Amino acid sequence: MSAASSGNDCPGKSSGEFDLINRFFRRARDGMAPGVVLGVGDDCALLTPTPGMQLAVSTDTLVEGVHFSADTPAADVGWKALAVNLSDLAAMGATPRGCLLALTLPAINEAWVAAFAQGFFALADTAGCPLLGGDTTCSMPRSAMASSVLPCTMTVTVLGEIPAGEALHRDGARPGDLLCVSGTLGDAALGLARWQRMNRDSQDPTIVRLLRPTPQLVLGIALRGVATAAIDLSDGLLGDVRHILAESSRASGKACGAELQLAALPRSAVLAGLAGPEAYEYMLAGGDDYELCFTVPASRLTALHVAATSVQVPVTVIGRITADGRLRCLAADGGEWQPSRASWEHF
Ligand code: ADP
Ligand code: MG
Repeated sequence: MSAASSGNDCPGKSSGEFDLINRFFRRARDGMAPGVVLGVGDDCALLTPTPGMQLAVSTDTLVEGVHFSADTPAADVGWKALAVNLSDLAAMGATPRGCLLALTLPAINEAWVAAFAQGFFALADTAGCPLLGGDTTCSMPRSAMASSVLPCTMTVTVLGEIPAGEALHRDGARPGDLLCVSGTLGDAALGLARWQRMNRDSQDPTIVRLLRPTPQLVLGIALRGVATAAIDLSDGLLGDVRHILAESSRASGKACGAELQLAALPRSAVLAGLAGPEAYEYMLAGGDDYELCFTVPASRLTALHVAATSVQVPVTVIGRITADGRLRCLAADGGEWQPSRASWEHF
């Protein structure tokens, strides 16, 4: 799209857009990644699909002021913009093939863009996910006052591959399946609470969990053929389990519910130091964990432990799928626990 029609040029900016792309987002190595015919620089990127594989595609946006505060280090924003997308590939059991980045900024701040790119590529290189293209636009209307506060937004699209028919769906849970999660829960939500109280300690493990989530790609791949359903935990355990229940009920025609054992929820040392009810709120309703939540038939429990051990990711059975259509959290004494907060929704 031309700058005139799209408003691509920030006020006072000349060839900034292409200069920015070439300096910060165009890397020779991405254009030479396996199966990549053409990367950044043309109208489209070109990829050679692997025979027998299905393409997994997903997109997610981060908005300044909604998903991260304006004072979040740009490198962490870059990491997280890609991490939340790779987490969706992980939840389907896909292997990353590449990504696209649409960046909308009110103005060009080169130091910010450089740090953003550094964080983005740190994860892209770890995950083997080349950047193949994108779009760079300015959100400042030409008529706007320079003092208007406009948010940065970044939309990442990821492309992955899965052997045909082996993707992990949300709708495959059945009554009797065990409900499991990877890693520990609630750390990022505690990190967010601390961040909102102006804690900016980059060594605080809860803030690291908030700013630099680790997509569980290797586990997702290991769960192919083992898990019956999977989702990544972005909005909070209860809300995300509800998605599995709703989709599985729809697919099976049965009212799938779940029983969660509160005492079984895996927690880090920091969460373990909190009083039970406070820790439960973070673990059940807190978002941003980016762990995987999945179901396995009881008969595959050994296969699950073999798979999880092979990729060295801790997994915990936290409950089971029931046939009563209800989602219940049970305390050690068998009593039901009612969380006070719901999980995150935008509208
Ligand atoms: P077009 O006008 O054809 O959409 P653009 O001028 O937007 O192309 O982009 C030029 C090239 O730079 C394209 O290959 C596009 O994919 C790539 N690109 C633009 N912005 C980014 C970005 N932020 N990161 C990576 N590649 C980008
Ligand atoms: Mg464009």
